[in-house]
Amino acid sequence: MKPLSIFFSFMFITFCSGLNWGQNSQTAKTMTAQQVIALIIKNTGANTIPNTVDVIKEGDPQTVVTGIVTCMFATLDVLKQAVAKNCNLLVVHEPLYYNHLDDTKQLQNDPVFLEKRKFITDHKLVIWRFHDYIHSMRPDGIETGMVEKLGWKNYTVKGSTNQFVLPETTLNELLKSLKQVFPKNAFYVVGNPDLKLSNVRLAAGAPGSSAHIRLLEDKNVDVILAGESPQWETYEYMRDAVAEGRPKAIIFLGHINSEEAGMNFCSSWLKGFIKDLPVYFIECGPSFWSF
Ligand SMILES: [Zn+2]
Repeated sequence: MKPLSIFFSFMFITFCSGLNWGQNSQTAKTMTAQQVIALIIKNTGANTIPNTVDVIKEGDPQTVVTGIVTCMFATLDVLKQAVAKNCNLLVVHEPLYYNHLDDTKQLQNDPVFLEKRKFITDHKLVIWRFHDYIHSMRPDGIETGMVEKLGWKNYTVKGSTNQFVLPETTLNELLKSLKQVFPKNAFYVVGNPDLKLSNVRLAAGAPGSSAHIRLLEDKNVDVILAGESPQWETYEYMRDAVAEGRPKAIIFLGHINSEEAGMNFCSSWLKGFIKDLPVYFIECGPSFWSF
């Protein structure tokens, strides 16, 4: 190559790499909510879930994302904190409007609903539910965060994230240690406080009483660490089981306590592949206080 053509080649390469750099940088800074969501779903490694509840609940999919907040519930307080952090995409585990499918027919004239929705539209926020896909991750992303929070990684069975063999303890002692992890609410418990136990299953969220009962039938399960259940279902089954002298118990942590750490895990997981946007976890904590 002649010196002149080397010079032109050099200029050409420099120009092209400069152009590429410019394009990458621009893309990273102008990702839309829809693009970020597609990237998150891709990274879960899950197959496409038909009829998923993981859809945009409010906001324009073409909104350019300024920052991401992960949370358990997009409460009004969490929304305000997100705006203060200049984040406009909320990645939320649970519904926005008080029922599983976010059906708002009944709420069209409801002042609470209208005020919340106005806040979202006034601040041009995008709310995306991340429920089915995070539970489809292997291991389950919510359970991964819970194992971390409980500090039970060394007690997990064969790499599972919901089966644990604890050093033998009593129900009462287990409750005392859980109170250190979840200090804000009391637990609902059915079982004998002196019950000796070792095999614990995590049943995060609200999987339904038939799932709870199936777990309690398993002879390798002493105690279930549950989220929530209607009190006329699992609770009454468990009361009869205890009356029959069965060495079992169930601890209801509350739905939020049983899953929220999963959305904390979610924020650190997102930071692994979303480098150019700020990502925060905001805790909503329990909705109620206990007396
Ligand atoms: Zn869940």
